[in-house]
Amino acid sequence: MRIGVIGYGTIGKRIADAVRLQEDMELVGVVKPTPDYQALAAARKGIPVYAYDEKSLRLYEEKGLPVEGTMMDLLEKIDVAIDASPGGKGAENKKLYEEKGLRQIYQGGEKSWVAEASYNSLCNHDAVIGARSLRVVSCNTTGLLRLLCSLDKYFGVEKARVTIIRRAADPRELWRGPVNTVSWKNLGPSHHEEDARTVKPGLDLIVTSIVAPTTLAHIQIHDIKLRETPGRDELIEKLASTPRILLLDTSAYRLNGTGAIIELARDLGRSRNDLPENLVLMDSIRMEHGWLRIIQVVHQESIVIPENIDAVRAMMGKKLEETLPVTDKTLGLLHGVLDAALLAKK
Ligand code: NAD
Repeated sequence: MRIGVIGYGTIGKRIADAVRLQEDMELVGVVKPTPDYQALAAARKGIPVYAYDEKSLRLYEEKGLPVEGTMMDLLEKIDVAIDASPGGKGAENKKLYEEKGLRQIYQGGEKSWVAEASYNSLCNHDAVIGARSLRVVSCNTTGLLRLLCSLDKYFGVEKARVTIIRRAADPRELWRGPVNTVSWKNLGPSHHEEDARTVKPGLDLIVTSIVAPTTLAHIQIHDIKLRETPGRDELIEKLASTPRILLLDTSAYRLNGTGAIIELARDLGRSRNDLPENLVLMDSIRMEHGWLRIIQVVHQESIVIPENIDAVRAMMGKKLEETLPVTDKTLGLLHGVLDAALLAKK
């Protein structure tokens, strides 16, 4: 598959790097409208960069940054457009992709109608095989669905009540706040409820979401009513066997906040301190009165990257078992309880 990544920001640059690690995919180029420091770094990596239009092409040329042409030139050379432009822009780009007969992948900032189906690897991969367009749901919805679909498979999920403490901005987004307040846009139903149901129809889910002045990660506090009531050990064992779920013993390793968790990613040598796994805080797990309490951390900048790679393979006709292990191996993802033995396996 010849791939173009349209939009080279937080998500696009990570998708581009992930595509370059896949043997069955070729990154033909990325579209980056502005020749800023991220374009400079792309040039350093040897990634073919395309400007957005003629005006943006001239900006690249004035700076002497390598540029291959415009977005329209890139669209001539690819089979799949992975759109990682800001929410809403993907829908505007869609008509160009359609004109060129391209397969399309969109991100969670787009409305669900932009694609044939919304997507999460652990929920509906095999149901969307052969689709020509898919939308990978947002970072919080991806984290939420990986957990709920897995628990549903093991024990049945009757309902879930989730409180999300959202990060206010990504680290480089100087223009977003808040700086010194906890805020909310809407204390009624959160958009994550509908978003999750685009992948898992009928899910009984209530989400409350507030925004905290941090850039590092989201925190999700789940209260889940399961149909069966497993013991804590059985629950941990099942979660530990689930791909893309990494259990952190926070008290044993003094992982006492998102700052420590991101520092761990740095210390492990993760590229861009990325943690695309669901980071389940093991000490939070408890079963009371038939309700499971579980808290997880979601690294918003990286969690959707493996799903984008699997979505390409869904379009190539590959089943989940033919993509997920390959994606996780090439991206170096871990699952299980994080300890010395798990790290020694890598
Ligand atoms: P971003 O602003 O970091 O990057 C967007 C990129 O697209 C930039 O390079 C920008 O110059 C470029 N661009 C702007 N207009 C364009 C256009 N018309 N056509 C092509 N490219 C254009 O955005 P992001 O945070 O990477 O978000 C991209 C998508 O991913 C959105 O749908 C967002 O909702 C979703 N998403 C973001 C996060 C996150 O935490 N940042 C997490 C999950 C999903």
